[in-house]
Amino acid sequence: MNYRPSENRYSKPDLYRRCGRSGVKLSRLSLGLWQNFGDTRDFESQRALVLGAFDRGITHFDLANNYGPPPGTAESNFGRMLSTDLASHRDELIISSKAGYHMWDGPYGDWGSRKYLISSLDQSLSRLGLEYVDIFYHHRPDPDTPLEETMGALDHIVRSGKALYVGISNYKAEQAKEAIALLRELGTPCLIHQPRYNMFDRWVEDGLLDLLAENGVGCIPFCPLAQGLLTDRYLKEIPSDSRIATGSPFLKSDAITDERIAILKQLNEVAAARGQSLAQLALIWILRNPAVTSALIGASKLSQVEDNLKALESAELCAEELAKIESILAS
Ligand code: NDP
Repeated sequence: MNYRPSENRYSKPDLYRRCGRSGVKLSRLSLGLWQNFGDTRDFESQRALVLGAFDRGITHFDLANNYGPPPGTAESNFGRMLSTDLASHRDELIISSKAGYHMWDGPYGDWGSRKYLISSLDQSLSRLGLEYVDIFYHHRPDPDTPLEETMGALDHIVRSGKALYVGISNYKAEQAKEAIALLRELGTPCLIHQPRYNMFDRWVEDGLLDLLAENGVGCIPFCPLAQGLLTDRYLKEIPSDSRIATGSPFLKSDAITDERIAILKQLNEVAAARGQSLAQLALIWILRNPAVTSALIGASKLSQVEDNLKALESAELCAEELAKIESILAS
């Protein structure tokens, strides 16, 4: 306890980028608490990561109702830090949560009904010990609930003061277009979209990024490091403390193929020629598009956050480097 944040945490004003056509700025790297922040991880190591990130200027922390394991515990653990270390810094933080995936049994604990979204946010606020979150997302599109109902619930949530802004996640371009228009009609603009985007998964380049830029909606790609693949983590072996070795259901050893390692090694050479790590290269590549507000990273150690922040100090990628990366990814 007795945490006092670094006095230098805002010494790099370039760290912040306006989110679409809104008044809010986000740190260009944001920290997600999807993995490594449940009850299966030591609380002190979680605390060191969150506070260390805040000390270095990261102001945006991303959660969801189901982050853990078990589901909900990432919010409870972060809530513990909010009630102690970060209590007097609430107004310096952008805290997001989401609902859209399975959270509780029965017909009201999943997808996109008004019933689910509003009650789930109430539960999230209770776990976080907060009266409001800064951003509340619908986590994934619901093929059965009318979009008017889901967007109406987001509008209601803002008007009831339980979230300052709303966003959508995992919506394809056509679905996002409709959601953005509905929210605009309701008078609650869509602040931000949270899609998966990294060198291995580029679906957002096919229309979504342009749509968001045209509509003044921010973009915060998740898994920019492909859960750790786009780092030096797996170049030689599967380390015993890695996401794969510690049994994550979301990243398994079958992701490490000879072909992928060959690509990663070539990308690593491009990074080395620039004097940076592969993770830094992957991040500066994601951030190259002006439609991207912030890259939403995960981390298991503070040293990874430190390494990743250095990406922001590196030169932009030149045309030759971009072409080289394209040819490696196409091989
Ligand atoms: P990343 O792609 O950034 O992967 C993070 C992992 O990469 C870390 O846990 C670590 O792996 C490794 N890593 C990070 N930095 C370095 C480094 N410098 N050197 C070596 N290895 C490094 O993101 P995540 O997959 O963790 O997702 C980030 C966030 O995105 C989530 O926390 C969540 O907030 C959000 N998200 C949203 C989803 C949605 O549907 N909206 C879905 C998934 C994620 P290791 O643990 O092995 O050390």
